[in-house]
Amino acid sequence: MSKSKAQKKALAALNFDLFQLENITPIAPATIDTKIRQHQQQVPVSSPKRIEVSNSRLPSIAELQQMYNRFNWQYFGGKLPAVHIEYSSRMLCAGSCNPREKLIRMGKKYHQIFPSDIEDTLKHEMIHLIHFNHDANFRREARRVGTSVRARSHPSLRRPPKYLYHCKSCGAEYPRQKRLRMASCGKCSRGRKFDLQFKLRLKKS
Ligand SMILES: [Zn+2]
Ligand SMILES: [Zn+2]
Repeated sequence: MSKSKAQKKALAALNFDLFQLENITPIAPATIDTKIRQHQQQVPVSSPKRIEVSNSRLPSIAELQQMYNRFNWQYFGGKLPAVHIEYSSRMLCAGSCNPREKLIRMGKKYHQIFPSDIEDTLKHEMIHLIHFNHDANFRREARRVGTSVRARSHPSLRRPPKYLYHCKSCGAEYPRQKRLRMASCGKCSRGRKFDLQFKLRLKKS
């Protein structure tokens, strides 16, 4: 079973190569499918007010605010509060949201590599204004709004890993920042869920 170039690219962007116990709910395939579709179709033009995102230039803060207002009406009935939006040049992930401060930060480095993810990131962070964690409520909203469930970051932007896990069965290595408790190999686990038989082992920390 060979993956297309678009699929591989989409999977790489997802940082979604292993399965953890908490993710048993079948959201993963849907998320990856959405991501692959986005990469293949280059996102359909849905509104005349749509801001074109080009490689050379990221949207201005004013344009991000317009985008925010449009999504607020389109998906949330205009109920989300006014927020402050800014770019962060230090942040390595796609975006972050502080609901208490009503602040959404967009990762500059990430979007310089994946400029077409801007809308996806903004929608994801907008849901965080209502749902702090990636819980069932968050995932339901993400499906409804059509955005990725997982916070994304790009491998080339990550800090050197603190832990190195590996799969005894296939030898795949999983460098991670955080300790993994119950995680199994994404290549070996059956049915896209945690599989004790292929539990990842700590190689070094
Ligand atoms: Zn998130
Ligand atoms: Zn494996």
